[in-house]
This record gives sequence, C-alpha cells and structure tokens, in this order.
Amino acid sequence: LGASLKSALQKLANAGKVDKEVIDEVVKDIQRAMIQADVNVKLVMRLSGRIRERALTEAPPPGMDSREHVLRIVYAELVNIIGKATPVALEPQTIMMVGLQGSGKTTTTAKLARYFARKGLKPAVICADTYRPGAYDQLSQLCAKLGVTFYGERDNKDAVAIVRNGLRETAKYDVRIVDTAGRHALETGLIKEMKDIAALANFTHRFLVLDAAIGQQASEQAKAFNDAVGITGVIITKLDGTAKGGGALSAVSDTNTSIAFIGVGETPEGLERFDPDGFISRLLGMGDLKALVEKANEVLSQKDVNVEKMMSGRFTLNDMYAQLEAINKMGPLKQIMSMLPLGGLGANITDDVYKMTQDKLLSYRIIMDSMTEAEKEDPKLIGSSRIMRIARGSGRSPEDVRELLKYHKMMQKAMKGMKGGPGRANLKKLMK
Ligand code: GDP
Ligand code: MG
Repeated sequence: LGASLKSALQKLANAGKVDKEVIDEVVKDIQRAMIQADVNVKLVMRLSGRIRERALTEAPPPGMDSREHVLRIVYAELVNIIGKATPVALEPQTIMMVGLQGSGKTTTTAKLARYFARKGLKPAVICADTYRPGAYDQLSQLCAKLGVTFYGERDNKDAVAIVRNGLRETAKYDVRIVDTAGRHALETGLIKEMKDIAALANFTHRFLVLDAAIGQQASEQAKAFNDAVGITGVIITKLDGTAKGGGALSAVSDTNTSIAFIGVGETPEGLERFDPDGFISRLLGMGDLKALVEKANEVLSQKDVNVEKMMSGRFTLNDMYAQLEAINKMGPLKQIMSMLPLGGLGANITDDVYKMTQDKLLSYRIIMDSMTEAEKEDPKLIGSSRIMRIARGSGRSPEDVRELLKYHKMMQKAMKGMKGGPGRANLKKLMK
C-alpha cells in the first residue's frame, strides 16, 4: 500500500469513527467560541443543534478524523449563514447608510467614496445628519481630504429635504452615498426619518453599519432597520480591534442579507471587501479552518492517496496485515470501504473478508511471526515445505497457513482487478 494511504488509514484508526463523545466535545468548544465572539445565543443553539445532528449522521470523508469532520461541518454551516460577500457592482449607483450613532457610518461613507473613486467611478457624498453637531464638518473635511465632492446644508434641519436636493445636485456623479444620522438608541423619530429618506430614491444599496463590538442587540437593530428601509448588506466596522463581529452573524441571519465590507481602521484606507473564510476563522479563533477545508477537498479529490502507486506496487503480506489491522480498529469493513476512496474495491471482495475477526487477526499475526522477512515480502516463495515449517513454528495447522495465503492472494487479485477494466474507470471517476 502507498505510504499516504497507510497513514490516512492509520489516522482514521486512531480517531475512530464518528464518535458521539468527540462530537459533543467539539460542539461545546464551538459554542464557547461563538458566544465569546458575541454571536446571539439563540443562533448559537440553533447552529450547534444542526452541527451535532450532521456530525452524528454523516460519515467523515476519507482521511479526516472526527474532530476535523465536525469542524468542516461547522464551517459549512457558518458559510451557510454568512454566505458570500454582498455583490457590489462597479457601476453607477446610489447608496444609503444606516445604523446607530457611533457605529461608523460617516467614516465608512468616506471609505466607500474612496473605494469607488479608486475603481474609476466618480463619487459624491451627501450629508443627511442634521442631528449631531459637527456631523457636517466631519464629513465635509473627510471629503475635502479625499478630493471627493460633498453636498450638505449646514443650517437646514430637514434631512429629507437635504437628500432630495443633494440627489438632484449630484445627478451627474456615478456613485452617490447618503450618510444619515443615527441616535444612541432605536426610536420612532429615527426610523421615520430613515423611511422618508429611503423613499426619495430607489437606492441600489441600503447598508447597515454595525460596530464589531455590538453584542446581543445586533439582531434587534438589524430587524428594525430592515423593516424600515430593507437592508441590502451589512458593513462591520472596527474589526481592527479585539471584537470578533459575532453580532453581525445574527444581523445577517435575521435580515436574510450578507456582509458587504468590513472596516479595519479609522483612516479612509481601512475598508476591505468581506472575505467569509477569514471572518469565520477569526470568529472561531481557528486560523486553520480554511486550510482544513482545503485539505478535505484535496483528500476527497484523492491527490493524497496514491492509488496508482499502490496498484503497481507489490502487495506484501506485511501490507495486508497493516491494512487489516487498521481496518479492524475502525469498525465494520463494509462501512469503512464505502468511506474510503477505494470504495470501488469493496465490490471485488467476497463476503469472507467481511467476516474477519479479531481472533483471526491474532492468528495471522502468530503465523506471520514464523515467516522470514523475505517470505512476508514475497509470499510466492512459500511452497508446501515452507508451509509445514511455518505451521510447526507457529503452532497452527498447515490449513491455517494456507488460508492466510489464500486470503492474501484474493486481496492481491482485488488490487490488481482495479488496474484494468471497469474497476479502473470507477477509480478514475472517484478520483475526480
Ligand atoms: P457614525 O456616528 O455612525 O457616523 O460613526 P463615525 O463614522 O463617526 O465613527 C465613530 C468612531 O468610530 C470614530 O471615532 C471613528 O474613527 C471610529 N471608526 C469607524 N470605523 C472604524 C474602524 O473600522 N476601525 C476603527 N478602529 N475605528 C473606526
Ligand atoms: Mg456620522
């Protein structure tokens, strides 16, 4: 057997099959990590329920131990919620920013203007925050620094009127971004203002800006803003800090949206398109999650298991024994075979093989201990006189020795059977 297949088998053997205890342990770790990352408790429970169920019912892919298998499911379930980054087209559009005060709307407005400018689109920014003193100056100064067109009315308190005027004045610009006011808390005045502004134009995007540190309230906020204006995407700010942004998960899940950008700094350069893999790894504090998933795909595509080499190489008694030993540790052979990339091999093996018992393995070991290395490497050397010698040495009957040799021959034939004909075609299919 190829060394890599052996080690894959060994790995499976060591980890055992999907094991309830291991799964419960990993699921608990995941729950802890998610709650620490501010993921909504209800969401954590729902997620971990699904993860547990899948982990217990789905067989791990070949070469993957239980822990890795569970992590892979965790990853898939999180990807399921988070999805891909919100698509943001590089074409003319209007954008409305919503979110509570201090979440980072104004900073992100400037960042977005810069983002589109660098992609060759002409941005203009409209200040609709008539609530916070200094809001006008904050945004106009940011825009001046970036050389971005700014529209605002310093002394007008009517935000809706300002946006109406602003959209008219900036009609020639490609991307128009409206920065709105937030309040410290959700209240009807704020929500009404957001609704009225949203009604002024068919905004391409209504981005909900969330501070990464927002915890359990994320869900409530997301729902309120979504009901008011219909969120098209979430922007999580301040991910350069210690917060992991788990609150955004509930926001995304509750509004059925996705994350468009993340803020990673106070300056206008601190904006990145959302990358689900990086976000999930960070959320769970497991930098290796993506690598793990890649590994799984690699194992599944069989690059790791050198079947060609195994088929062309000699199948010695030692190989056979190692294989039996590994398989024996893992559970019913039929089930294991169906999990392995060599699944097709199962068809070539008679039912006798499946009846392999622990006793038989021990008996084989004892018989093989009376063989020379040369005999184990090349069983063809073993004629009737050697059979008698081995039987005497091991305290077994010559029939027992012959049975072992017969079994080996059958396994070898099964391996060779994969070399040509339909077996090989199946294998090629499996290797895709
Ligand atoms: P607004 O009230 O929603 O408009 O929030 P602001 O844009 O005024 O931002 C509030 C504070 O958060 C400011 O001090 C910003 O510099 C800071 N801030 C915004 N985004 C980020 C970010 O991605 N990283 C860091 N470190 N600070 C940010
Ligand atoms: Mg602001």
